[in-house]
Amino acid sequence: STYPLSTTITLPNGKTYEQPTGLFINNEFVPSRQHKTFEVINPSTEEEICQVYEARKEDVDDAVNAAEAAFKGSWGQVDPAVRGKALYNLAELLEEHKETLAAIESLDNGKALQLAQGDVALVINYIRSCAGWADKLTGQYIDTGATHHTYTKREPIGVCGQIIPWNFPLLMWSWKVGPALAAGNTTVLKTAESTPLSALYASKLVKEAGIPPGVVNIVSGFGKITGDAIASHPKIKKVAFTGSTATGRLIMKTAADSNLKKVTLELGGKSANIVFNDADVKVAVKALVAGIFYNSGEVCSAGSRVFVQEGIYDEVLKEFKSAAETLKVGDPFDLLTFQGAQTSQMQLNKILGYVDSAHSEGATLVTGGERLGNKGYFVKPTIFADVKPNMKVYKEEIFGPFAVVTPFKTADEVIELANDSEYGLAAGVHTKSLDTATYVSNKLEAGSVWINTYNDFHQMVPFGGYKQSGIGREMGAQALDNYTQWKAVRIALQKPE
Ligand code: NAD
Repeated sequence: STYPLSTTITLPNGKTYEQPTGLFINNEFVPSRQHKTFEVINPSTEEEICQVYEARKEDVDDAVNAAEAAFKGSWGQVDPAVRGKALYNLAELLEEHKETLAAIESLDNGKALQLAQGDVALVINYIRSCAGWADKLTGQYIDTGATHHTYTKREPIGVCGQIIPWNFPLLMWSWKVGPALAAGNTTVLKTAESTPLSALYASKLVKEAGIPPGVVNIVSGFGKITGDAIASHPKIKKVAFTGSTATGRLIMKTAADSNLKKVTLELGGKSANIVFNDADVKVAVKALVAGIFYNSGEVCSAGSRVFVQEGIYDEVLKEFKSAAETLKVGDPFDLLTFQGAQTSQMQLNKILGYVDSAHSEGATLVTGGERLGNKGYFVKPTIFADVKPNMKVYKEEIFGPFAVVTPFKTADEVIELANDSEYGLAAGVHTKSLDTATYVSNKLEAGSVWINTYNDFHQMVPFGGYKQSGIGREMGAQALDNYTQWKAVRIALQKPE
């Protein structure tokens, strides 16, 4: 028997909606060639939501062929304003469907609905911002003397492969699809196996927005099969990946070994969130909470290493503990909930494994450190203090609501501590001193530095990693660099008769 290509889902708030389950190729939902499906789990209840079709190599081939035809057809050739209009239409449709999209995200990822609503707002802003970029990718005239007429133009790359994670399924979809389309590329995107639903729902809107067939193709599936088929595909000219550093390294190798496709990577982190003696404690603690408990800690830029200057160490720790203990954790659909479920059993186990490790290495438990309830992948907001730089929980990315706190004495000391990491995604600095904020942020090896705030995103502000946290920048003007290539044209001039 064949699984249906769409299924009615009843949300915890009683509303129903139609969830597409097929692969999205050429603006149609289709079963995979082998008709294999896999189950999608609700992390709050551990029950199956539905099944979706699983793409294998031959399905990726179909998607790439559709994307290549679309690129060679009108999409790469039209007046860019046409692409801009289509992206504006898409932003409008996302806005119309924002309640459903947020609910799908909560259901599938486990995140609190209030945070999912925030994600969808960022998605809409970002797609709209990309719409505006479409007709602004201008080249230059270069004066090389009277003998030549020389100019540059920005051209799309072609078929892009995009592989995204499960922590912000729809937001990552928008960061990938938006700039790729604005610049005239076409795409084959693989969602994470644990969170395929929102991108499939958004695909309906892609079609409705008037984006031509083959421009956006969505292949649900697993990393080693579907993801590898993308990374190794000879017709894919560029691959963009967000996820773990280990998988990013593998994708870069695969890209090199196949056709040397261009690679951009958004990887892991172990970001420092630094509180100085002169900080406003209320503001700083709010930023510590936003740093590590926002999105259940499943954030690549999570402020997971907290450093507090000695003079206010005890006070900040006390306030941080009390803030953690008053956060509402549980049912994502309760609008008061701040922290929902972790996305998968695997992530839950990983986090609890790090709790054991922290205990055995002699860190002091301040709060949390255990699962909440026995159904759904909920973890209590967790803080460990007296954490030393040689401990596993200090060095490794945990990807959960798990902060480690370490005291420091001077600015130079904390800069050294913060930079002593293979990662370099983000950092936070909390101080009232302009000198401290500027001195420290200049010395931090991180792609984003937040002063007196944290995890504070905007569609025009570039985001990406130093060191092993990535290659390239997403959002802002920089995102378009990932999806365009410069062509230089020199015309030798002859004097007319
Ligand atoms: P992952 O990096 O393996 O998965 C991310 C995406 O890559 C998924 O779509 C997955 O299917 C795909 N993928 C996996 N193996 C692949 C391969 N060989 N070729 C091509 N694509 C492949 O991450 P994970 O296993 O889901 O999570 C493990 C850890 O990664 C987490 O605990 C966390 O520390 C980190 N992580 C980071 C981010 C981030 O935003 N930086 C996101 C998710 C996970």
